[in-house]
Amino acid sequence: MRIVLLGPPGSGKGTQGVRLSEIYKIPQISTGDMLRKAVADETALGKKVQEIIQGGMLVPDDLIVSIIEERISQEDCSEGFILDGFPRTVDQADALERVLPGSVDVTVYLNVPAEEVIDRLSGRLTCRECGAVFPKRDISPCPVCAGALYQREDDQKSTVEHRIGVYMKHTAPLVDFYRSRNKLAEVNGTGEPDDVFERIEAEVSEVISK
Ligand SMILES: [Zn+2]
Repeated sequence: MRIVLLGPPGSGKGTQGVRLSEIYKIPQISTGDMLRKAVADETALGKKVQEIIQGGMLVPDDLIVSIIEERISQEDCSEGFILDGFPRTVDQADALERVLPGSVDVTVYLNVPAEEVIDRLSGRLTCRECGAVFPKRDISPCPVCAGALYQREDDQKSTVEHRIGVYMKHTAPLVDFYRSRNKLAEVNGTGEPDDVFERIEAEVSEVISK
């Protein structure tokens, strides 16, 4: 099963991706995590990415696509995979269709209204010690390790609004892209994570059975 996760920042893609990965026994591939790790490990790729970012530029599509192509050719992806954070634009989705015959089986679209994701993200606190994330209301100290909680810079309201704006402009058109290919499992992403996951399973079965 080849799955793409789609939805605005803060829609719960990471959380739901972990569950899908367990159910289907396929790896979750986050381009953000892969790039951050390459930079931290100072690999050849990481150095290239760092140079690009320091120059204030975006990592170009052909580089991202070749990273994905290389990753999904690995043994653990033989039964499928879950893409999180890619494709991010219609151009990238076109490129994915070129390198991956048959493309993906289903795109899970977590539909959460902009006001709610802004609320969720700008209220979030992160533990300095263990990295766990909590809604603001639950706070302090970290229930996991008793470390201090803080608000990440990219969770501050103006930054969050900017990220949502970028998503609406560049990534949201992928909803129609996959809908027109009958690959879209649209799910109401509001409410409890368990309920959201039930909806995902139902929608995915429906798309797959077509
Ligand atoms: Zn902690």
